[in-house]
Amino acid sequence: MANPSPKGIDELELIARLTRDLPANASVIAGPGDDCAVLDLGVPGHLVVFKTDALVQDIHFTMEIEPPRVGHKALARVLSDFAAAAATPVAAVITLGLPTRYDLAWIEGVYTGLRTLATRWEVAIVGGETTCTAGPVFLSIAAVGRVERNKVVRRCGARPGDAVFVSGELGGSIEGRHLDFEPRLAEARWLADNFLPHAMIDLSDGLASDLRHVLGSSRAGAEIRADSIPVSRAARHRCRGDDPARGPLAAALSDGEDYELLFTVASGNAVRVLDGWKAQFPAVRLTCIGRITSEPGLRIRDRQGLREVGEHGYRHFT
Ligand SMILES: [Mg+2]
Repeated sequence: MANPSPKGIDELELIARLTRDLPANASVIAGPGDDCAVLDLGVPGHLVVFKTDALVQDIHFTMEIEPPRVGHKALARVLSDFAAAAATPVAAVITLGLPTRYDLAWIEGVYTGLRTLATRWEVAIVGGETTCTAGPVFLSIAAVGRVERNKVVRRCGARPGDAVFVSGELGGSIEGRHLDFEPRLAEARWLADNFLPHAMIDLSDGLASDLRHVLGSSRAGAEIRADSIPVSRAARHRCRGDDPARGPLAAALSDGEDYELLFTVASGNAVRVLDGWKAQFPAVRLTCIGRITSEPGLRIRDRQGLREVGEHGYRHFT
């Protein structure tokens, strides 16, 4: 959903403006521009990881969706960002905006979904805020967690020659996966413990956009192979027809809300990563889609040769 403001400033420009001159202090290891904030609060051996996210009615969910799936999605999005940092979420607070006349069964259903996911990942829900809204229902979750000091993974560490991997299958998430996905916390933890990726991000805006975020932060480029992109069955089903700009590959490159992991590792580790992953997570596909280059830009190799990837991506105000 391209969602420009009335003056035509898109989400990335807005964030760039708002974050240009924010106060920081000595605790800040990673601030705006990464999946999570990372803080040094003097905890021995660990850094503190901090993140917030929001869902808004009719933007991220509709009232027709089963309420537990809404609650699941709200928390899963936050936990997916913890996965991107290879961090462990510990506790969350929930801010809820409701109209004066609200449906109690609906909100209790949302909390059922929240509670189930939080319990599975041992995330304590430790408070929050309920407020009245004249507009749509919204649900905002902030979470705090930790990561070992030497195992935090950020977007900025990709190095020329690195192999680029993605988990799962991409595109067509709107068919349902965006409501039911499981955050890749276990996979990220395993990666950090065994290979320590140079850079990692969770795919929320779409492969092309999110890989660009990694490349921008890492001051590098990438070359990916069209025939290696793991296109989901949902994307193949949804995108039939002759227009390649609307085809399954375009969907896999540009559809948002896949919530898979994209990461880079030294090329010498690529085979061991693939073999280890297959043994550890046999139900989750892992694909090497290309490599990091010193030449900036994102290029894709297909039957016509090598070309620049256009400005694909799901831009939104979330
Ligand atoms: Mg993210």
